[in-house]
Amino acid sequence: MGFLKNLFGDGKPKPYVDRKGLYFYAVCDNCKTAVRIRADKSHDLNNVDKGYAWHKTIVDAGCFRPMQAFVLLDREYKVVKKELEGGHFISEAEYEAMNNEQ
Ligand SMILES: [Zn+2]
Repeated sequence: MGFLKNLFGDGKPKPYVDRKGLYFYAVCDNCKTAVRIRADKSHDLNNVDKGYAWHKTIVDAGCFRPMQAFVLLDREYKVVKKELEGGHFISEAEYEAMNNEQ
């Protein structure tokens, strides 16, 4: 029975965790609008040499100017390198703080 127990867990409801989603936060250099972007681990990432690469065109809701994002991750989905043309990345805390001001 141990096998079945492991398979189905202990029956307790688990809080929802977005295991497939990676979240990035950015600010447009032109209009200063903060945006949150979700990358799906199984659909949006490309396999590269030692991890994953993510390319995305981000469009903010302020000036609608496209920003080119490029993020390099290792196999544990830790960010190795990130670049954003036309804007810059911020932390989740900075994003929350900016949204609370509005
Ligand atoms: Zn903008």
